Amino acid sequence: MTVLDIKGLHVEIEGKEILKGVNLTINTNEIHAIMGPNGTGKSTLAQAIMGHPKYEVTAGTVTLDGEDVLEMAVDERARAGIFLGMQYPSEITGVTNADFLRSAINAQREEGDEIPLMKFIRELDKKMEILEMDEDMATRYLNEGFSGGEKKRNEILQLTMLKPKFAILDEIDSGLDIDALKIVSKGINEMRGEDFGCLIITHYQRLLDYITPDHVHVMMQGKVVKSGGAELARKLEEQGYDWIKEELGIED
Ligand code: ADP
Ligand code: MG
Ligand code: MG
Repeated sequence: MTVLDIKGLHVEIEGKEILKGVNLTINTNEIHAIMGPNGTGKSTLAQAIMGHPKYEVTAGTVTLDGEDVLEMAVDERARAGIFLGMQYPSEITGVTNADFLRSAINAQREEGDEIPLMKFIRELDKKMEILEMDEDMATRYLNEGFSGGEKKRNEILQLTMLKPKFAILDEIDSGLDIDALKIVSKGINEMRGEDFGCLIITHYQRLLDYITPDHVHVMMQGKVVKSGGAELARKLEEQGYDWIKEELGIED
């Protein structure tokens, strides 16, 4: 088991404090969902974990099995096994999707231990079939002319090919129609297991109809204010966030 541990995390953007002490522990073999109203710092949390330079950590720790993640450069974080959906440039002209994926996989491996081409192709074919992707998606240039749904599906392809220890998926469901949502969920569910932990950030409960989270957290005003099981997401869908605000005495 691997543990991603976030303790007392405070993050500022351009001098403004956005995260005000986030605590969250995610083990492999667990899927956590973070929900919450817009502008409460969910994406900020994802970006801070991944090391986006604009997000300044002013207090707190992020560790991966005790190793200080905040000390690591962005590529080291990826190599340590943390995957952030949306981390790739949206379009890279002249690099095919397959080439990009193969370099990303090899960048995670030791020199001299590159993935054999045939093995890579077999695996890519298999995953693309699971995700119901057109074969030509492999040879097209990365994200060039991909529709919104294709980009999201491609992100899940990256996830299933790179097999990180932890994935942080920020609004992977936004803009997906129901069929695409089911396929994306299938890809994430395929990853479930001993060696995989996931933090799903979503504004809507809908995705969680297809991926049953082990833990659900509500974020408000830069903090995790409530945690529960899958039933908490359903309650939020039915009743919104007001009851939590009342319970906690939070004013808008
Ligand atoms: P969420 O993902 O929960 O909707 P965000 O983390 O995107 O919330 O944003 C939290 C707060 O930080 C918001 O008030 C937003 O305006 C502010 N913010 C986010 N990104 C930036 C940025 N790049 N520059 C300045 N302010 C930002
Ligand atoms: Mg938002
Ligand atoms: Mg966001």
